[in-house]
Amino acid sequence: MSDLRELYQEVILDHHRSPRNFRRLEGANKSAEGFNPLCGDHVWLYAKVEDGVLRDIGFQGSGCAISTASASMMTESLKGKTEAQAEALFERFHDLVTGKPHDAARAPDLGKLAVFAGVREYPVRVKCATLAWHTLRAALHERHETVATE
Ligand code: ZN
Repeated sequence: MSDLRELYQEVILDHHRSPRNFRRLEGANKSAEGFNPLCGDHVWLYAKVEDGVLRDIGFQGSGCAISTASASMMTESLKGKTEAQAEALFERFHDLVTGKPHDAARAPDLGKLAVFAGVREYPVRVKCATLAWHTLRAALHERHETVATE
């Protein structure tokens, strides 16, 4: 577990220092705003969806290292995926950080997102880790009110 914890900290700090896809996306046709009042994390998500595929994703905002790293890694993981694949990955990620068991045979591979298993040790951080995902989901479903985790 300590190796995973080290990797978790290393990856999160790296994405916090230099977040990927940290920009307002030109030509985005889906967007949403998310806020986590428990921690003060604030995120804007932008996506360009064509024929059900997430061609590009960007985000902006400010928040703690975990919320920023999670948004950054989410944009990397979902670029080029279909909306259905994104939904499946969201559910798998949510199970991971909340420590829920899953059906490994049916669940999609999390890839690098697996380091977020470390969040289970810090339950108060689950909302930080899932904020960008909830916000992206709201954008894809075209819900325009601000997503709040509370
Ligand atoms: Zn946070």
